Amino acid sequence: MATATKVQFDLQQQLQTLPDILFVLDPQGTILECVGGKASDLTLSREGLIGKDIARCPFGIGPLFEAALRAAEKGRGPVSIEYTLFCETGPAAFEARISRAPQVGFLAVVRNTTRGPQDFAPRVEELDVGNAVSMWKAAFDATAEGILIVDLDGNYVASNHVFHELWRIPRYMLYRGQERVVAKFALSLVHDPKALLEKVKEIQTTRRGRSVDIMRFKDDRHFECISMPQMIGERVVGRVWSFRDITDRVRAEAQTRHDAYHDTLTGLPNRALFRDRLDQVVGRARRSGLNAAVLLLDLDRFKTINDTLGHAAGDDLLIEVGKRLLSRKREGDTIARLGGDEFVLILSELRHKEDAVIVAEQLIEVLKPPIQIETHDLRVSASIGVAIFPDDGEESAGLLKSADMALYRAKELGRDNYQVFEKKLNERAMERLVLENDLKRAIHDEEFIVHYQPQYDLKSGEMRGVEALVRWKQGKEVVPPAKFIGIAEECGLIVPLGRWVLEQAARTCAEINAKSVLSLRVCVNVSALQIQRPNFANEVSEILQSADLPPKKLVVELTESALMANPEQGSYAMEQLKQMGVGIAMDDFGTGHSSLNHVSVLPISFLKIDRSFVENCAKRKADASILTAIVTMGHALGLKVLAEGVETEEQARVLREQGCDEVQGYLYSRPIQKSKLMKLLGIDEKTP
Ligand code: C2E
Ligand code: CA
Ligand code: CA
Repeated sequence: MATATKVQFDLQQQLQTLPDILFVLDPQGTILECVGGKASDLTLSREGLIGKDIARCPFGIGPLFEAALRAAEKGRGPVSIEYTLFCETGPAAFEARISRAPQVGFLAVVRNTTRGPQDFAPRVEELDVGNAVSMWKAAFDATAEGILIVDLDGNYVASNHVFHELWRIPRYMLYRGQERVVAKFALSLVHDPKALLEKVKEIQTTRRGRSVDIMRFKDDRHFECISMPQMIGERVVGRVWSFRDITDRVRAEAQTRHDAYHDTLTGLPNRALFRDRLDQVVGRARRSGLNAAVLLLDLDRFKTINDTLGHAAGDDLLIEVGKRLLSRKREGDTIARLGGDEFVLILSELRHKEDAVIVAEQLIEVLKPPIQIETHDLRVSASIGVAIFPDDGEESAGLLKSADMALYRAKELGRDNYQVFEKKLNERAMERLVLENDLKRAIHDEEFIVHYQPQYDLKSGEMRGVEALVRWKQGKEVVPPAKFIGIAEECGLIVPLGRWVLEQAARTCAEINAKSVLSLRVCVNVSALQIQRPNFANEVSEILQSADLPPKKLVVELTESALMANPEQGSYAMEQLKQMGVGIAMDDFGTGHSSLNHVSVLPISFLKIDRSFVENCAKRKADASILTAIVTMGHALGLKVLAEGVETEEQARVLREQGCDEVQGYLYSRPIQKSKLMKLLGIDEKTP
């Protein structure tokens, strides 16, 4: 459209300087425009001529023009007339060529022929007008926009090819007089015909108004629609409508908007949209006085699935979980994925707080049926933290924090459950924060101490080794590892702490072996975070060297969950340790997901039967038979089987009967300080 307007403008500029006079006439012969020529060739001023009817020209030439107009209307080419006028400079001969102008009516080019052939300028219609009109035509046809020109009454004047294509208007409709049919047809295509009709009416009444709109079609195409007046000089003679198909742009924009607020994997709202919605729900709840709830949901052990089956399977699982959660969504609620395996549900306008609990139960239930991914039937469970507005937070951030604390508590309580926020949780969270800070300082200040618990051969009763167990000395108080190992793991402090324990244990063991006839081994607990470090085996090797302890005197104790957290990285380090000669024990065997599969493929040399089995083996037949199974299986795989937590003679007897190799427990000794251990072994600590 812009091109066409420019050409029109250029044309006007050119015409002002033409030697010929150019009259633009409407179909009735009214002079719309008068440009070019010498002022002396005119009997009236230009302004005086505009608006006059050319057929009423004085000096008898009006009828001449009148007849020419009619002839031009019927015929194909221009019609010429000649006449004489008395101008300022005396009588002058004129020639006028009248032709039809497709958009307005007629074009009359008038030339003063008195001046003779020497200053005969080229004919305007042949050169400038012809050129400009053809340029205008070319632009009109070549532009990518669909253009429709109508007159002031809304009658059809012209349109280009693109216009037909865009509107898909049958060609037969595009003639003067068909306007109603066309309008009806066009209105049937658009999404909101009423709005379009009003727009057109409004525009037609303003005459000079310009507008830019986006028009939506029933087939979901979108047009940008520009409307502007068509001017000749200062006069508005009609209206130009231009249309551009911007469907692709509109769709891309919609997609970008959607992407910014949705999770690409599950298609659920993302964190940004969730925040928005939560703010809205909280605002509404505040006004209505109703409750609202946030349910924060985290899949249990998702990382294990992701790591064992691969990310593609993990993605499929998340998609399915998203679908199942959606199936429980009520109208008005929001389900979003916050990232990773964390989902969130906003319940708006809750009449009863208990409803949030019912929904939490439903969510846990809906995840129960196994999910088929590739060839696997996966069972997933989730932990959910529930926080209710306004009790647990009066605005979004606080509410979410409360839900987060409740979720944390649900995880602590063994997963696959939901917890509703309690004030107490907040206090616990504070305690944790304090503990984390204290822990950092304690590592710096070396407030830790390692205790050793002896391990004995069940048959001979000889001491075979010790397990190193860390303690935290806070003044006179000794903090047990259960209170801080978890936190140390979560904040990564376990890495320096674990290294320190390894160093202490290796040194103590080397010292004992050097000072006694015994050849003990030391078992050290190692957490998942440590074994996943790419350099772990090297670090162990360095520690052994500097302590001067042979690798076969060290046993690394790992729990199955530590191994499964990242099986590839873990088993790589284990292979390296095994090659060095370091022993590997599977700790707490029989709890959690213990499976014989893992035991048989991992380079393990010890099985440590969990205390819970030992505790009941003397009382319950079932436990005794599990014990038999574990021992038999362990031996079949060539492993040493050690029972921990042995507290009574009765337990020791059963274990002996089952063929267990070694024991450790309060019956023999509690974990003790290094000095006590030395004394127990009859070593004088002071001898070098
Ligand atoms: P664990 O590896 O299963 O260690 C055995 C736990 O059982 C120790 O608890 C020990 O004191 C306790 N125990 C030993 N004999 C008996 C008994 O006859 N009866 C009872 N009731 N308990 C007995 P502790 O020292 O509190 O350690 C708890 C857990 O903390 C350990 O469990 C281990 O998982 C972790 N831990 C301890 N030290 C370290 C360490 O240096 N690094 C890492 N990563 N974890 C450690
Ligand atoms: Ca252990
Ligand atoms: Ca254990």
